[in-house]
Amino acid sequence: MEPNMSNCRSSYEYGHSISWFEDIAENAGKVQTETLRRILELNSGVEYLKKWLGEVNIQEMDATALESLYTSLVPLASHADLEPYIKRIADGDTAPLLTQEAITLLSLSSGTTEGRQKFVPFTKHSARTTLQIFSLAAAYRSRFYPIRQGGRILELIYSSKQFKTKGGITVGTATTHYYASEEFKIKQEKTKCFTCSPQEVISSGDYKQSTYCHLLLGLFFSDEVEFITSTFAYSIVQAFTAFEDLWKEICIDIKEGTLSSRITLPKMREAVMDIITTPNPSLASRIEERCKELEGVDWHGLVPKLWPNAKYVYSIMTGSMQPYLKKLRHYALGLPLVSADYGSTESWIGVNVDPSLPPEDVTFTVVPTFSYFEFIPLYRQNQDCSSVSDDFLEDEPVPLSKVKLGQEYEIVLTTFTGLYRYRLGDVVEVSGFHKGTPKLNFICRRKLILTVNIDKNTEKDLQKVVERGSQLLSKTGAELVDFTSHAEVANQPGHYIIYWELKGEVEEGILGECCRVMDASFVDHGYVVSRRTNSIGPLELCIVQTGTFKKILDHFIGNGAALSQFKTPRCTSDQVLLRILNGCIIKRFHSTAYA
Ligand code: AMP
Repeated sequence: MEPNMSNCRSSYEYGHSISWFEDIAENAGKVQTETLRRILELNSGVEYLKKWLGEVNIQEMDATALESLYTSLVPLASHADLEPYIKRIADGDTAPLLTQEAITLLSLSSGTTEGRQKFVPFTKHSARTTLQIFSLAAAYRSRFYPIRQGGRILELIYSSKQFKTKGGITVGTATTHYYASEEFKIKQEKTKCFTCSPQEVISSGDYKQSTYCHLLLGLFFSDEVEFITSTFAYSIVQAFTAFEDLWKEICIDIKEGTLSSRITLPKMREAVMDIITTPNPSLASRIEERCKELEGVDWHGLVPKLWPNAKYVYSIMTGSMQPYLKKLRHYALGLPLVSADYGSTESWIGVNVDPSLPPEDVTFTVVPTFSYFEFIPLYRQNQDCSSVSDDFLEDEPVPLSKVKLGQEYEIVLTTFTGLYRYRLGDVVEVSGFHKGTPKLNFICRRKLILTVNIDKNTEKDLQKVVERGSQLLSKTGAELVDFTSHAEVANQPGHYIIYWELKGEVEEGILGECCRVMDASFVDHGYVVSRRTNSIGPLELCIVQTGTFKKILDHFIGNGAALSQFKTPRCTSDQVLLRILNGCIIKRFHSTAYA
């Protein structure tokens, strides 16, 4: 995320941003119908809409009538329904298929959460709303955690490699397009004096070299750093873990005014050397001393020790990022962890208006101008439901103005970028209201991740089970670095495999117990029944070598993902990933007894 633009904002601008939002939140229902009208007017006549709406003259309809007409004629869609249109765009068809505005950029979305990368259009609107939500979030943050004007921000952000389709369309992650956009440049120009890393470091395309330079420059400006940020929390943990090995080399560079030979990209070398022009032995020895102390306490409190003026750590820490909270807290010591906003490559959704809440309690207040949002009510099935392929029953979608407190929903988007009634696949719960707009609690991706037969477990279910199992590690001093899972059905009976990468040594007896506890912690009725009847076999816990999850990250980066948007897949059937995981197993445990 790009919160550093906030530094240049006066309190007047913050106030303006908040009062704009409070106003649209008050009138959210009306703002939504108007937002839909604007989307349909801007894209009137495009092939996709013509197919469903025919020649209806929307100009003459009032917004409410248009909303009912639209939701009755245009069907709910998945990415697969829009894929043929997106493919034609990628192949160079310039007719107005989804939007009137020509699409020149496509983003890669959720490749890491669903195992398959999807293309979605990226337009000027995408970059504009990114800037808008960053400034709005910064305005709310400034109420609780004011930062010093003229300070700097250590931003651990990365662009992916971009490529061209055969039709000449540029493909990259949404954050990559944003970093290359006019909006980002304007922001960079305004705030140049405040970021630690220059553009050449962000967009190098080599995350290892970028991480080194981000850390080096972050330390070079350490006394000025006001907060530390990344898009997803994973990147912060990844960078600080790398720092545990890199610090000595970084200290030499600061001491001698040099740049490690591991930085081979000429543009990045030049840009970083332009900043670190003179040797700074006193800063280097101060950092070295602190690192030696930190090494003795397993880097506990790294952030406040190395960045003494940092006010908080800011990043997405909810959903699949929650497992990294423990490590983040370890590094941040008592420093506040501020959870960032909710969005996707397809559209921004909600802003965190209560930044002082701990990440576990954070909700996202829907911004009703970003897209037209609908909500499919979901009901959990706790009975035997072998005929249903999903773990939820659903009802007809409702507009934002009709959502109910405590109800779970799947989000449906109609965007300015040509997605119409598009099922995002995220499950959220309405946990309150901010004036007239809902506050959402992110629950999980809807897609079932672990299923052998009638059992149905989501990412959230797996997360809870792993949390229970890994609690046993606390006595050992070892820690869980990362995890994933696989539903093995090649042999009968099928069973779940959970892969763990650990830091530190753990006795086999304890790991066997972790395996048993995890098996017993799945509460899904289908799983419990199947385990009792042995139609699902004992849970298998596989311990993988140190660095296995780094190999998985490298595999995704090699396929065009960016570190900024990376999320470890919590369940996989991808053959390449399974080959990496299975090739790195060092120990296996099976849970035999089942109550
Ligand atoms: P992508 O577009 O591939 O970067 O991934 C977007 C997805 O990341 C969303 O659909 C969510 O599943 C997840 N996500 C984004 N923001 C948050 C958040 N604040 N909390 C939890 N999950 C999030």
